Amino acid sequence: MKGELSIEKTNLFLKLDQIDKQEQQAIDGITIAVKDNFCTKNIPTTCASEMLKDFIPTYDATVYSKLINNGACLIGKSNLDEFAMGSGTVDSIFGPTRNAWGYNGDTDWRIAGGSSGGSAVAVSTGVCVAGIGSDTGGSTRNPAALCGVVGIKPTYGLVSRYGLIPLVNSMDVPGIIARNVEDATRVLNCVAGPDQLDSTTIKRDFKPIELKDIDLSNVKIGIPSEYHCDGMSEDVIDAWKFVEDLLEKEKAIIKKVSLPYTSVSIAVYSILNQCEVASNMARYDGLEFGLRTNEDYSTEELYASSRSQGFNNVVRSRIFAGNYFLLTRNYEKYFLKALKLRRLIADDFKNVFNGENCVDILLTPTTLCDAPLYGDFVSKHNRDQCAFQDYCTQPANMAGIPAVSIPIRLSKNKLPISLQLMGPNLSEELLLNVAKRIE
Ligand code: GLN
Repeated sequence: MKGELSIEKTNLFLKLDQIDKQEQQAIDGITIAVKDNFCTKNIPTTCASEMLKDFIPTYDATVYSKLINNGACLIGKSNLDEFAMGSGTVDSIFGPTRNAWGYNGDTDWRIAGGSSGGSAVAVSTGVCVAGIGSDTGGSTRNPAALCGVVGIKPTYGLVSRYGLIPLVNSMDVPGIIARNVEDATRVLNCVAGPDQLDSTTIKRDFKPIELKDIDLSNVKIGIPSEYHCDGMSEDVIDAWKFVEDLLEKEKAIIKKVSLPYTSVSIAVYSILNQCEVASNMARYDGLEFGLRTNEDYSTEELYASSRSQGFNNVVRSRIFAGNYFLLTRNYEKYFLKALKLRRLIADDFKNVFNGENCVDILLTPTTLCDAPLYGDFVSKHNRDQCAFQDYCTQPANMAGIPAVSIPIRLSKNKLPISLQLMGPNLSEELLLNVAKRIE
């Protein structure tokens, strides 16, 4: 791929100097960056927010402790949008993370995607072997796609959420970012499996994924027409078609399929996201958790001033919207209706994977275009359109299914463009084996 890859001024790491020495065992010596919404004992965990700026956890997230106990080496906690709300890594108290691709000086640089942009840039620039992200609506796959690296969103419950500061509990999963499918698989094999500390993990032993040369003539791949949406760039459409043809040449069976409820999924995602955010953020009251201001005239004023100083506009507006949807008079009209639609969105996937004329996996773009310029991304118009960034990624979170984003290297593209494979629950082995053929 042509284009400029620059590591300077990317604003990746928050704390390079606080690395715990740990025994090195199986993933011997690989370097990792961990998104700063995973708890790391004795190492500040800020969620890139004033609210948690001084928070030092007393325990480790399971994902992190599994990696460290197997010999991985933490090189830094990585930048994110505040509380993982965003798709650009532009809303952090530490400033935005810059994409190394297309960097052209201080006034001309592209967003890294988000919200796990710090981990994605760390991997794309070779600063570390793997990055840990979180993925609620695309936050691992989106930055992986815009930075030209591999991103995995595992099946909900395959990887423990213990110690991941919650955004939307029913959709959050830890995600993995690596330069290639093989590295990503090694990390997934290390972190997956049941965890007593997270009752939502799948209670069956995890069989490590094997990468092998699979016969694609047995694999049916669906191309969902609804993912061909307004605003998708020509380059993305070309890459999609290119890979479809490539897989067909390799004898895979390609079928056009339909996921009719995709059209409502952004609205449903937004409502459910905001409702769960409103409930999760209630713990940050300035008393038990989070920033405490000096306002002590009344408890209510202390709550209000701690939250208005502790949270940015994005977080505050989601709390506000979520509480509105959850009002007694609105609950049925918005929250319950969104839950019902979420079920129909998940059923769409069940139908294409199990119904008549079914397929094994789906091939779609990950993002609608390549990495936008920072100035364009934060413009008022684009802020209003922000939810649309997740068009291709959030349905997998609502259905709980696994997805992998893979960079597609076409020489005509100056910036990374990536495609996504999605499959039924626990189909990671097939997804990663097909991904390996594409990369
Ligand atoms: N962009 C989405 C949001 O802001 C996804 C976030 C995520 O996956 N953490 O809700």
